Amino acid sequence: MTISGRTVVAGVAGSPVTHSLSPLIHNAWLAGAGIDGVYVAFSPAEDGFARFVDGLRGGAVRGLNVTIPFKETALVLADEVSARARAAQAANLLVFEPDGRVRADNTDGLGMLGALAAQAPGFQPQAGPIALLGAGGAARGAAAALIAAGAPEVRIVNRTLEKAQTVAADVGGSCAAFPLEAAAAAFEGVAAVINATPAGLAGRAAFEAPLEATPETAVVMDMVYQPLVTPLLAKAQALGRRTVDGLEMLVRQAAPSFEAFYGAAPPEGVDVRCLALTALERPRP
Ligand code: NDP
Repeated sequence: MTISGRTVVAGVAGSPVTHSLSPLIHNAWLAGAGIDGVYVAFSPAEDGFARFVDGLRGGAVRGLNVTIPFKETALVLADEVSARARAAQAANLLVFEPDGRVRADNTDGLGMLGALAAQAPGFQPQAGPIALLGAGGAARGAAAALIAAGAPEVRIVNRTLEKAQTVAADVGGSCAAFPLEAAAAAFEGVAAVINATPAGLAGRAAFEAPLEATPETAVVMDMVYQPLVTPLLAKAQALGRRTVDGLEMLVRQAAPSFEAFYGAAPPEGVDVRCLALTALERPRP
């Protein structure tokens, strides 16, 4: 990669951010497309994100992906907010305009729907109720995207019931809240179960989801991608359910960001999923 006087700079901001796969994905696409650009990771101080974004106003950096713990602050700092970022109450994408304005968007919902379409061909969000585990930023974005895509009902199942109730009320549409203990009831008759909690992440305890209560046709998706086959997906596969992994979502939420930063769709023929899998398998410092 050659850095020139025209190199377009974009990146990801988070804390911690060193393990992010986004630089690997975006730089592989840049190389494949022959675009004079670079994508780097930034780790602003946890209380310094507003200062960091202010310093970038005017376009020294074309844009940022935003990850934990800055997604909610990113939304507040932006001058223009897309409808889907507003619905999610979180932004994973900031674009810096030359006149100093900052635009916020959220592509997580697109990534989730894209992953479902790719790994569960024929799945339709309209096919039936969808159970969503979690009531954090990812669940909020997913619920809004599912309702917008025509899901007849989204059942938000969360450890803290009040949070599920708040998300259900905020997202509107046909959203209902369930405590984690009532997961089996929430799983009845669903078209899909989607985990939007960190439960099952390598090194953390997994939540024992009563997937037996789902219909045989249900699709089970996990936003967690480390390990690629989480305990939830392993159980789903053992029950014969179709599964969708979080890595597919990660790659698919990155594509619209790439387009926003560099003005072109990711090139076809660059297997970023394979690159990401190799990186995930490497022992991490
Ligand atoms: P938040 O911290 O905002 O939300 C976490 C939610 O998970 C809360 O509702 C919390 O419940 C619940 N939760 C946490 N631990 C457990 C547990 N052990 N058992 C049951 N519930 C639990 O996180 P985000 O919403 O930002 O992200 C959620 C997950 O999704 C993360 O692992 C993240 O990496 C992943 N993600 C993946 C993406 C991808 O592209 N693949 C994109 C975005 C997110 P409570 O309210 O009770 O605290």
